[in-house]
This record gives sequence, structure tokens and C-alpha cells, in this order.
Amino acid sequence: MSRLVIISNRLPITINRSAGELHYHPSAGGLATGLNSLDASYNKLWIGWPGVDIADEWEKEGIRNDLAKRSLAPVFLTEREIDLYYEGFSNKTIWPHFHYFTEYTAYNDDMWDAYQEVNFKFFQETEKHLREDDMVWVHDYQLMLLPALIRAKFPNISIGFFLHIPFPSYEVFRILPWRKQILDGLLGSDQIGFHTFGYMRHFLSAAYRITGHEHKFGRLQIDEREVNVDVFPMGINYDKYAHPDVDAASDQSSGEIRRLHASRKIVLSVDRLDYTKGIPHRVRAFGRFIRNNPEYIGKVNLIMIVVPSRANVDQYQSLKAEVDVLVSQVNSEYGTFDWMPIHYYYRSLNFAALTTLYKEADIALITPLRDGMNLVAKEYIAAKEDSKEGVLILSEMAGAVYELNDGAITVNPQSHQDIEEALLEALEMSPEEQRSRMELMQEKLKQYDVKHWAATFIKEQHKLKDKNKMAN
Ligand code: UDP
Repeated sequence: MSRLVIISNRLPITINRSAGELHYHPSAGGLATGLNSLDASYNKLWIGWPGVDIADEWEKEGIRNDLAKRSLAPVFLTEREIDLYYEGFSNKTIWPHFHYFTEYTAYNDDMWDAYQEVNFKFFQETEKHLREDDMVWVHDYQLMLLPALIRAKFPNISIGFFLHIPFPSYEVFRILPWRKQILDGLLGSDQIGFHTFGYMRHFLSAAYRITGHEHKFGRLQIDEREVNVDVFPMGINYDKYAHPDVDAASDQSSGEIRRLHASRKIVLSVDRLDYTKGIPHRVRAFGRFIRNNPEYIGKVNLIMIVVPSRANVDQYQSLKAEVDVLVSQVNSEYGTFDWMPIHYYYRSLNFAALTTLYKEADIALITPLRDGMNLVAKEYIAAKEDSKEGVLILSEMAGAVYELNDGAITVNPQSHQDIEEALLEALEMSPEEQRSRMELMQEKLKQYDVKHWAATFIKEQHKLKDKNKMAN
């Protein structure tokens, strides 16, 4: 039986320590769901960091044994590695740079060294497990050097790589001092996948200009190998959001949300606190909407869920302070004694509250300045499976827009005027139009769900594997 070896920065479990004991919590993120759904003809092994800092060798051994029973293999990171590789090069260099926030890119050789070392550490763990007949699937921007490291030791093994964030245009990518090493790392793969056609095009153009490899219909010839570069837009677990398995009737915040909705229209936004998400722009645009459309005073609320993220990085702290100030400005300027325009929650929600909000919200206002995909937009559409009513306002800069642009109202997230007009259009849209737009989007998301995404990626990789085998 073939085996699929999945490698990502984080394992699909989180380990916590409480009262001196270790606890294992499986995390049912989209990636884990998609991969679990893959054909039972694959045995799976998942390699990654368990998210906890363990120094004691005995304890590591215990964790290793526990995880092995679940077909998981841990890569333990030291505090220094977490600091320089994860919070450093991954989140302070690659993340801003690939999202076009070049003014935030950190150029730091210590971070780059740690990135190389940790990619090598992942390789060392992988090497222990690998067999020539395995299929390897590496995920995301934290591990871009890993494909070439594996390739050097296992020249014939099948390696796939998927990038979950944007790949920037060549003009931006080439600013990185380590651009060539990053491309060489990725080009160790047999297949490289992106969310959108644009990211793929940027990658091919960078590969040509920086490494000289020219593609033919998305295929690159690297030595004897053919590398397939392609688009695989990631879907969601549609049923999970269409029919949430929760007892919303007894969830306190779900009740509160429904009561609020009884008297007001709800505009919803949900994102991590990140400068890529366009949160300040959205608050300003909502303020402008109220100023220019006073007939909506007391009738519409923006419920803004901002999930804490990367709180020890400077830019995230200043963003938090900026959003706090902007929200209070809008609320104090336009609020009345019985109406606050913006309900702002800086915290994460439980699944019952999140899905109730999706179901209740009349409008989802999703306006990232740059976003690899944006799963929240897709989850909102799925949650409307029963009612079919609701309007999605979606940024042109989100990867999801290419699948949803026939049903969503699209906006330039930098344009307050665009957002104001979109809000008006959404608030005035007839139920019939809402339904027909919703159905268009739902049909797509149902068909191209996360299971389809994982299965398609692996099927294509398998085809290449067979082809390359025949060529050898
Ligand atoms: N989410 C969550 N807790 C919350 C709010 C949101 O787990 O309180 C989830 C949400 O359901 C979605 C993910 O966080 O699956 C955000 O993914 P997205 O692609 O929109 O943005 P990212 O955070 O990956 O940049």
C-alpha cells in the first residue's frame, strides 16, 4: 500500500501541559480534514512540530511514542528556533514579504540561518521514516527548503509542495536576498501547487528569471525530472458549516446574537488580527458609510471578530492599538444612547457562536488587503445552506475571489467608497437576488470542497510519479 508522508510546520494536534500532565488535543483544521478524507488506500504519516517546548529527553521520548500510535512524528523545536525560524524568518520575513508588506520584511541573517537549520531538522526527522515508494507532501512557507533537501537524499521519491499564502510578483520576490535558495528549495518538488492562477504565474516568472528554467504549459524540466506547477484552490469542509454539529439553542452567545439580530441588520467580519486583513480600512469605511447614510443609524451593526494572533510581534501590537482607537472613534462619533455601530470582540469564538454568527449575518464584509485564500468567506457561504439569504462583500485581493466573484460583491479594500457602495447595494439587495447569488457560490463550494482539493492534488502527483517511474 502506498504511504503518504505529510510534513507541515504544525502537527494536527496541540499538546498542552496542565497540572504537570501532558494533554493531546486534535485540531480539526481544514488541512487535517482534507487529508483525513483521502482515499483509504493511503497509509499516512504526519511530521511536524507539536506546538510545545519540551527540553527533557525522557519526556520527548514519551511524546514520540504516544504520537507514533497516531501515525504522527514530532519535530521538537528549541525556544531559540521558535524565536528565529518560526516567529522570525517565517512570520517576520516571508509572511509580510509574500503579502506585499515589504516595509515590514525583516532582513536578518540569524533568522535565515535558523530557517535553514530548522528545515534541515525537519529533513532529519523525515529521513528516518522515508521509503523510496512513499509520496511526500510538504506544506507551506515555513518549509520551502525541505523539498530540495529530501530530493538530494532520495532522488526518485515523489514530492509535492503546496503554498497556502500568495506567491508575490517577481518584482517583489526578487528583493529577498535569499530568493535563489528559496526557489531551489521549492524546485526539489515534483509538483508545486498554489491557490490561484496569479500566484502560479508569479512563481513561474520568478523561476525563469532567477534560475533560468523555462516552463511549457506549467511544466518545468529540472535535470531529468519534470516539475508540474499548477493551481489547486483549497476548499472547506462544506458540510461542517452547512450543518454545524452544535447545540446553538443552549449556547449563550448564540442566543444573544439572535436577539440582537431581531432588531438590527448584522454586518459581520471575522479575521485574525493581521495587517494583511485590512481591519483599520474596514473600520474607517464603515464610519464613512454611517456618516453618508444616516438613515441606517440604529439599524445596522458591524460585528467585528478579531482573533488574537502573533501578539509578541511589534507590528501586531501597534495594529491592535490602532484598531482599538479607530473603533472607539467611530462608536463615540456616531453611537447613540441605545446603539453602538461597531461591536468589536478581540478574542476567538467557539464553533457554536461562530456558526450562529455566520447564519445570522445579513452581510459578510471581508476586505483583506492581501490574502492567500480566505476561508472565512467560504464558511459564511456554506453556513447559508438552509436560508440562502445573505450577501458576501469580498476583497479583490483575496484568493477566494476567483471562485466567488459571480456571487459576491467585490471591492477594492483600499477604497472606502467601494466599501460604502457595496454596503448600500447589499443592504438593499432583494431576497431573490441574494438567493440566486448564494446558490451560484454554494454549488461551487460544495463541489470543490477540501476533500476534492486534497484528492486532486494527490491524484495529479500520482500521475507524475507513474510517468517519472516509466521514464527511469
Ligand atoms: N476561526 C477560528 N476561531 C475564531 C474565528 C475564526 O478558528 O474565533 C477560523 C475560521 O473558521 C477559519 C480560520 O480561522 O477557518 C481563518 O482562516 P482564513 O483562511 O480566513 O485566514 P487565516 O487566519 O488563515 O489567514
